Amino acid sequence: MGDLKFGDAFDYAAAPETTPVPLQKQYELFLDGEFVAPSSGKYFWSVNPSNGKRHARIARGEEKDVDAAVRSARKAYEKVWGPMAPAERGKYLYRIARLIQEKARELAILETMDGGKPIKESRDVDLPLVAAHFFYYAGWADKLEYAFPGGRPEPVGVASQVIPWNFPLLMAAWKIAPALACGNTVVLKPAETTSVTAMHLAQIFQDAGLPPGVVNIVTGAGETGAALIDHPGVDKVAFTGSTAVGKAIAESVADTTKRLTLELGGKAANIVFEDAAIEQAVEGVINGIYFNQGHVCCAGSRLLLQESIHDDFIARLDRRIETLRVGDPLDKNTDIGAINSREQLGRITKLIGSGIEEGAELHESSAKLPEDGFWCRPSFFTGVSASHRIAREEIFGPVLSVLTFRTPAEAVARANDTCYGLSAGIWTDKGSKIFQVADQIRAGVIWANTFNKFDPTSPFGGFKESGFGREGGLQGLRPYVQLG
Ligand code: NAD
Ligand code: MN
Repeated sequence: MGDLKFGDAFDYAAAPETTPVPLQKQYELFLDGEFVAPSSGKYFWSVNPSNGKRHARIARGEEKDVDAAVRSARKAYEKVWGPMAPAERGKYLYRIARLIQEKARELAILETMDGGKPIKESRDVDLPLVAAHFFYYAGWADKLEYAFPGGRPEPVGVASQVIPWNFPLLMAAWKIAPALACGNTVVLKPAETTSVTAMHLAQIFQDAGLPPGVVNIVTGAGETGAALIDHPGVDKVAFTGSTAVGKAIAESVADTTKRLTLELGGKAANIVFEDAAIEQAVEGVINGIYFNQGHVCCAGSRLLLQESIHDDFIARLDRRIETLRVGDPLDKNTDIGAINSREQLGRITKLIGSGIEEGAELHESSAKLPEDGFWCRPSFFTGVSASHRIAREEIFGPVLSVLTFRTPAEAVARANDTCYGLSAGIWTDKGSKIFQVADQIRAGVIWANTFNKFDPTSPFGGFKESGFGREGGLQGLRPYVQLG
């Protein structure tokens, strides 16, 4: 301890989570209120990304199962959920929200085991937000005519919802809660690497007495998702994931009457002006890119630094990434957990390689990585030019690209120089500059002197190739109602 300087990383004793975990060996489909084996009899493995070990078998739903799920959702919509008094629907949603709170600790552990995110995030961010979304939309269920004054809101019907692996339960909540609040029924397909917590959520639906068919969950990979989206019995499609798949879905939905909302990738600019509170900005930039290992569509993945503070800021970032603790996601001290899958690690590694090849300078933490599982050191690139792949493509990992600017106008131009438009951050001491710059940035969510803050009352969604439609807030009801 004698040589320790302030700010140096030092070893903590391990502080692993000790709550017993109810992970099942095998998960079935959730169809018409029951847990049933897939028609094919086939299962696939979900892996714990922190050790690479297979830890649960997940049912592989196929076309036949998707069809059964959509039929069940249709029946529930017509016979039970659609005709139900809105206040009664609200009661179910409140009950679900309370059950999520009661089981929050074990759900957080499962989320961390199956997806790799640090327990402090799943416990303190994901799960509280999941419950909050159900509470929030429960409140809207019997007040829809106030959300759409004079609009006579009616439900749309059966929604098919396909979600990604970065916030498995939170994405399920974002999709399911507003759909049910508006009187629709749902078939959900979780991502293949993170299906476990969706099935525990299904258990909560059953425990809450939610009528059979109101929510069905079909697990499987891309083909299962495609079958669900293409099913003719579906009225509304909601997708969150990669831009490539989003575009394919937009095409397949184009010659139908299905409604569509898409939430795709991002390449957000986090803009730091020279008059910003620097230490605060460093923390915001760190949180902006390394939260959830950078598996965040709205991550602040491009840092735009005003030239005058560049060298000082980079020196601070170099020091700060050394203090980030990478390792066991179930350890309460861990800052950076495991990369979600081997495939994702491969994509990140390839893009890091392209950054080096194109001449940018890699600054990498010296953290020792565990031997098994999928890991990536927190890092950032300086000397990045706007044409580099690492400045244009979504890396979806703990890798930041740093660019510079001189004037606010140049900052805006650089921030908007992307095919995406999901989010942005502005760091400055001047309120007027916040409004001036935010006004000109084409992004759905803009944070000022903070980053990656979420709340069920605020709408979330993109411009340009980041997609269309909003989730969250009053706006998040709109895709799930028709106005008469
Ligand atoms: P993906 O788009 O392939 O997967 C997202 C979901 O879509 C999963 O449930 C998947 O099973 C399903 N899916 C895949 N193909 C489908 C199809 N043809 N029809 C219907 N559903 C389909 O994403 P990925 O391959 O897991 O990740 C690739 C990249 O996507 C990442 O590197 C990242 O850049 C981006 N991504 C973005 C988000 C986001 O939140 N915007 C989330 C995950 C991944
Ligand atoms: Mn998994």
